[in-house]
Amino acid sequence: MGNDESCLFCKIASGEIPTAKLIDTERIVSFNDINPVAPFHALVIPRRHIATINDLGEAERDLVGEMILAGRQLAADADLAASGYRMIMNCNSDGGQEVFHIHLHVIGGRPLGGLVEKNT
Ligand code: 5GP
Ligand code: ZN
Repeated sequence: MGNDESCLFCKIASGEIPTAKLIDTERIVSFNDINPVAPFHALVIPRRHIATINDLGEAERDLVGEMILAGRQLAADADLAASGYRMIMNCNSDGGQEVFHIHLHVIGGRPLGGLVEKNT
């Protein structure tokens, strides 16, 4: 599971595609979503290429924890702790995943409403 040469988020993590980082550590990076759905919309990704949540295992336990805590910190820094926010990780087609390098969405700054669209 090394870096995937064609992967957009690997290129952002490595700096090949220059992107302002909100968080930049040994194992994770965070940056603003290019198409925000709310006043605050950041993504937290691992530096290492992991395609979907399905590819996570015991070895990634700490990494996933670090991603969630980074999201918590981003929300606190954006003054969203009291008003609230949402963290989302989409998986594969039905989950609406478009970029196949796992990422945690951290979204807030407006009332976000219900979790998903109603069944039709
Ligand atoms: P997904 O649907 O896979 O959960 O979310 C992918 C997210 O990546 C989308 O919210 C989309 O706006 C964002 N995104 C796609 N391409 C880029 C990019 O080049 N730069 C940034 N910052 N975000 C991107
Ligand atoms: Zn990748």
